[in-house]
Amino acid sequence: MSDLAAVLRARIARDGPLRLDHWMAACNAAYYTGPDPLGRDFVTAPEISQMFGEIIGGWIGDLWLRAGRPAVRLVELGPGRGTLIADALRVLARVPGFAAPLALVETSPALRAQQAGRVVADWYDSLSDVPDDLPVIIIANEFFDALPIRQFDGAGGERAAAIAGDGFAAAVIPAPGTPAGEASPAGHVIAAVIGDRLRRQGGAALIIDYGYADTVAGDTLQALRNHSMADPFAAPGDSDLTAHVDFTALARAAGALRVSGPVPQGVWLARLGIEARAAALQSRNRDAAGGIAAALVRLTAPTQMGNLFKAMALSAPHWPKPAGFDT
Ligand code: SAH
Repeated sequence: MSDLAAVLRARIARDGPLRLDHWMAACNAAYYTGPDPLGRDFVTAPEISQMFGEIIGGWIGDLWLRAGRPAVRLVELGPGRGTLIADALRVLARVPGFAAPLALVETSPALRAQQAGRVVADWYDSLSDVPDDLPVIIIANEFFDALPIRQFDGAGGERAAAIAGDGFAAAVIPAPGTPAGEASPAGHVIAAVIGDRLRRQGGAALIIDYGYADTVAGDTLQALRNHSMADPFAAPGDSDLTAHVDFTALARAAGALRVSGPVPQGVWLARLGIEARAAALQSRNRDAAGGIAAALVRLTAPTQMGNLFKAMALSAPHWPKPAGFDT
């Protein structure tokens, strides 16, 4: 039995079944601290192609120019291997006059070390710790889906983890008066901090993730191990636990701001010129043309990541409208 499993068994034996969000928080903290989760169990958009981070770099540069070239701080939440921000900064280096301190919010020491190999930055455990002296441009790709959720059955119960034999299994504990569905209290807290920062400091936040815009009452919890679906209650800390992001709930938790989108990732990337970027890369490297075409399809096709993944921007009302959200 892993150390985490032993700790969780002792905790459940003492306090009773563990609420799903507490289970998910403990499992993911262990998971992201482990060896190279991004290569082993799942692949994210920036790891599929440099085009993804480059388009985001262009989006940042465009917004910054139209905002009147203010001093800003760049912030990324959950930067993984640091690939997205390294690709974005390569584009931003070509925007005359652009310079910004980079703050990375990352809890995993292993991933911090990988990020440090890619970019110069300051690291923080939480967005609340990032200095509030400048307008901020915040990027979060596949960050909110990793945050813990609660699941309510609509009949006064919620999902929890209980001890079952040598392992664990789902159980129901009382949650009187709660409507059926999922909620991410941790995500809402971070969205509220984003909203507060944007109103006080100015700036914008780009949130890209898999999820939905209108509340659904289904079970979206999923565990991935070695690129396959696993049981979220088996082997705690050994699989990646995620849930679909409720964009409407995030925007509501952020409070009064300009909300752009969500729009499907494929549509957003196309509006920002990913096809032209793919063609330019292909013309420079004929041998890689097939791989670039395949990556383009994977990122944008509705049957691949193009529809399930969505982009939403939150921005200060006095900032210009972020690109890619209007027809
Ligand atoms: N954005 C990256 C990685 C996505 S995986 C990419 O697109 O490839 C999720 C990331 O969020 C990891 O870097 C993980 O360590 C980090 N993370 C998860 N929970 C976190 C938390 N509560 N606070 C800060 N970072 C967290």
